[in-house]
Amino acid sequence: MLKRANSSPVEWFCHDLCHDYGTPGWYTLFRILTNIQDICHNPVALNWDVIEYSEQIVDSLATFPFGACNIRNLNRRVVLELIRFTPGGISRAELARQIDLTRSTVSAIVAEFVDTELVREAESGPTTGGRRPILLEINPRRGYVIGIDIGATHVSLVAADFLARVMHEMELPFDIRKGPQSCLSELNLHVQQLLDKAGLSQSQVLAIGVGVPGPVLAESGIVTSPPIMPGWDGYPIRDYLQKLWGCPVSVNNDAELGALGEWAFGAGRVKRHMAYIKVGSGIGAGLILDGRIYRGATGLAGEIGHLTIQEHGPLCTCGNHGCLEALAGGAAIARNAIQAVKAGRRTQLSSIKPVESITARDVGEAARLGDLVAQQIVADAGGYLGIAIAGVINLSNPSMVIIGGGVAQMGDLLLEPIRHVVRERCLQPAAQAVRITSAVLGRRSSSMGAVVQAIDTALYELTEGSFFEKGGIKEDKSFENQSQNILETNQAYAGV
Ligand SMILES: [Zn+2]
Repeated sequence: MLKRANSSPVEWFCHDLCHDYGTPGWYTLFRILTNIQDICHNPVALNWDVIEYSEQIVDSLATFPFGACNIRNLNRRVVLELIRFTPGGISRAELARQIDLTRSTVSAIVAEFVDTELVREAESGPTTGGRRPILLEINPRRGYVIGIDIGATHVSLVAADFLARVMHEMELPFDIRKGPQSCLSELNLHVQQLLDKAGLSQSQVLAIGVGVPGPVLAESGIVTSPPIMPGWDGYPIRDYLQKLWGCPVSVNNDAELGALGEWAFGAGRVKRHMAYIKVGSGIGAGLILDGRIYRGATGLAGEIGHLTIQEHGPLCTCGNHGCLEALAGGAAIARNAIQAVKAGRRTQLSSIKPVESITARDVGEAARLGDLVAQQIVADAGGYLGIAIAGVINLSNPSMVIIGGGVAQMGDLLLEPIRHVVRERCLQPAAQAVRITSAVLGRRSSSMGAVVQAIDTALYELTEGSFFEKGGIKEDKSFENQSQNILETNQAYAGV
């Protein structure tokens, strides 16, 4: 058995890869994806030695949740992910070159994907003189997915094909405080409506990705003590929805999905070090550190909304005082506007009746139209956000910070104060290295992240999974035991 001492980087690469296979869901695929980036750009090539080493290690792991990981699956997965994420498609020859496999191995794998209609031959690529290579791409019509972004006050739903092309989308008001039973049955109605509008039947949907505004244990699809989701703590969201919809469902934190959406299609395209800050009713961050989503020990990483900004500031939903969310979240912006109107300040917001119905969106709209009171409220929120974001930058040194979510629709009115405070408070080299920008996908970052995630899940189920064979529900009741076993195995493996 491999020991930590005297291990080469290649061995640790394998260890990492195999360790990841013990983590179900999109995270596994995401990590593998980033490993592929490493493979393509690092001297450590994924050659047969590495793969064989991986196989040995895989075999040596006593418990393995999927049980299906073998050398063949590893190759297939690498090939599939490269086809999926190479812009404009990739040829068989290029696949063989990039992953250092023989052309015949690549051709055999591709033939299987083409036979099962997962991959199709697209247009020919550019030629260097000889025959034009045939480019491969994921077959967009092999299946469809739904991405859902549940916010505190709204829900967004997107139906997309396997190339993540949007077929239909909806955004509706939603009140997460109604609790899981009421909210999830309402969500089900919205999904049926979305399917109707997109012209899809439920059986054509192969996976659904869901984002929620709270800390998530992604492996089990439950939220843990979410401050703005009263009544949801520990509710088995994923299992409930899988039974309801009869297809694999993944549940993740909305800001993490925002980071994933922007990473895949938006401002942070394949950035290795980035933070996505979702500013809506709540405030959360999705962190991609060294090419990987960073979740922390229990899924709570990125809870930037509960950083203390003012020791004796306003009361927050989490029970503390002066959290960022209580100062700069959508509810805080609305509250400040209501107070300004009640105090008799001259603002066009005073035309909104009753005054209590003023929302952050109204404030943003008034600010855009030149209302000075509204602009000051937005600038104050930006200043508080800047303090927290400066902390994130000093801590993690990202090359990009993307501001998304509903409140971020205020654009430069919000971004300029953030940039100003970051310049003031960050260590200069860190401030110089970072670009602060708004989300390219706008309000769709998280729902598109949920689509990316759902396609991952669907592709996994089509190539390796057993969801549909087992009648719909993954047998993961023993997951806790399995992860414990994996932990122990890995400790033994590392010689702990
Ligand atoms: Zn708080």
